[in-house]
Amino acid sequence: NRVPNFSAGPATIPTAVLERAQSELLDWQGRGMSVMEVSHRSKEYVAITEKAEAKLRALMDIPDNYKVLFLQGGASLQFSAIPLNLLSGGRGDYLTTGAWSGKAVKEAQRYANLGLGEVNLVATGKDSNFTAVPAQSDWNISEDAAYFHYCANETIHGVQIFEPPQVDAPLIADMSSCILSQPIDVAKFGMIYAGAQKNIGPAGLIIVIIREDLLGLASEWCPLLMNYAHQAEKESMSNTPATYSWYLAGLVFDWLEEQGGVAAIGKINQQKADLLYKTIDDSSFYNNPVVPEYRSIMNVPFTLADDSLDKVFLEESEAAGLMNLKGHRDVGGMRASIYNAVSLDWVQQLVDFMIAFEKKHA
Ligand code: PLP
Repeated sequence: NRVPNFSAGPATIPTAVLERAQSELLDWQGRGMSVMEVSHRSKEYVAITEKAEAKLRALMDIPDNYKVLFLQGGASLQFSAIPLNLLSGGRGDYLTTGAWSGKAVKEAQRYANLGLGEVNLVATGKDSNFTAVPAQSDWNISEDAAYFHYCANETIHGVQIFEPPQVDAPLIADMSSCILSQPIDVAKFGMIYAGAQKNIGPAGLIIVIIREDLLGLASEWCPLLMNYAHQAEKESMSNTPATYSWYLAGLVFDWLEEQGGVAAIGKINQQKADLLYKTIDDSSFYNNPVVPEYRSIMNVPFTLADDSLDKVFLEESEAAGLMNLKGHRDVGGMRASIYNAVSLDWVQQLVDFMIAFEKKHA
């Protein structure tokens, strides 16, 4: 009785993963205890973390000169950790294409105000109400930036940048809502970070993939737990990590491998997104305002031409077993988040519902 769940995050987790976790919840590896009850420093638990990292490296083809960290504090804490680790008196370039990249630059500005360095807003999509990414020819790029930060997929506005921007500075991407959704070339990035609660597993875990030459540049104010070099040295175990989330992430990586890996899931993700956008575009009843080349394949916001029907849409979709379609309050309307664990069949059910709803109410 698992229902189609279109939550933006925490998001649906593959049923097979939850079943596996359930099967060993009380008695993990025949030890008479749960994995969440064992020491993170035990040999058995460390084996789980090593396997999870190896799987993620294989799934994303992460080069050897990158460290993979499994940290806590959410993606939002990285908005602070990035300037604290990497600004060091220099200038951070920030591109704003929606709510999350906007929060990142705002947080970095706090450290710049304290004298840690400078923050440069390269461009913002605000004028288009975040329905498009400003053309690179209009970006105000610094010549000597310490890094260039952007959000690869804006979860709220449904805006995705598919090709990494070509800039000289080390590229830092917030991939919280698109990591593992399609193949990327990690070597193009200085750092990638992603909260787990969309495509990786339960909340409480954040993954940082960072090129080794960017380690060791942190400001003296940087809290030890946020210091990437320190966490790399301690193999993400400076203190007690989010052990259960880390374990579950490993099970999600196993599942993704069984699905054929990132390229295979990427094809299905494209099919899901195409189906949903086509349904929206074929109708004057539904609308998605994002310029097609930037439409997210993970988060699809849409509005109803008659917003007085919003409440009815949500009531009827829920009655039909289609959950968590309410849009974010900043954008309104609806939002279907169609992460890796959302099947094509669930999206088909959603599309069938939308067509029937339009016939009934248009
Ligand atoms: N960045 C993006 C793209 C997000 O979607 C989110 C949360 O949804 C965040 C950052 C913040 O994540 P957290 O709640 O883990 O701090």
